Amino acid sequence: MIKREFKTVKERLFWSYANLAMAHTAVEKNQEKYIKFNYMIRSKLYKGLCNNTMNVRTLFDDEKIKLLLGQKCSYCGSEENLALDHIFPKKYGGKDTGDNLIYACRKCNSSKGKKDLMEWMISKEQFPALLILRRYLKLVIEFCEKENYMNSPLEDLRKLELPFNIDFIPIDYPAPYLLNMTVK
Ligand SMILES: [Zn+2]
Repeated sequence: MIKREFKTVKERLFWSYANLAMAHTAVEKNQEKYIKFNYMIRSKLYKGLCNNTMNVRTLFDDEKIKLLLGQKCSYCGSEENLALDHIFPKKYGGKDTGDNLIYACRKCNSSKGKKDLMEWMISKEQFPALLILRRYLKLVIEFCEKENYMNSPLEDLRKLELPFNIDFIPIDYPAPYLLNMTVK
């Protein structure tokens, strides 16, 4: 596989988002690997996002799914001892808004602690559920757009204290692995 070089924050985040969308189409069709159609979706979306002819979808869909799924831990599915978990930790400016809050059981919540979502997942050697990752990525993109970081060189972000770590955001979403995940 070709190793991609990213110069700006925008390139890194949009590539991740386009890959996530590609993964989503594969999971929906129960594919064990990516086929040409999936790659086409990715390439079209990435190009469109970079030249501003396409947009990252709003968090509305994610909110709708959250309501439909009901009260369950977003990480392990447990229905007991639920609390609200901040995706962006409060300590780093995470807000008490619906976009930033998901259900988590007490066990997952305390294991995650003050860690950023991806930092926590990496420490457990796990990959988050697609839906959680999508929400997280949207929050990161929204944050970078608001703070005008999208066109900044990646190095600039590494120097700042942010609610996420740009280097932890996944770029590849392996198709066979994703088959075990629930999309809807
Ligand atoms: Zn849990």
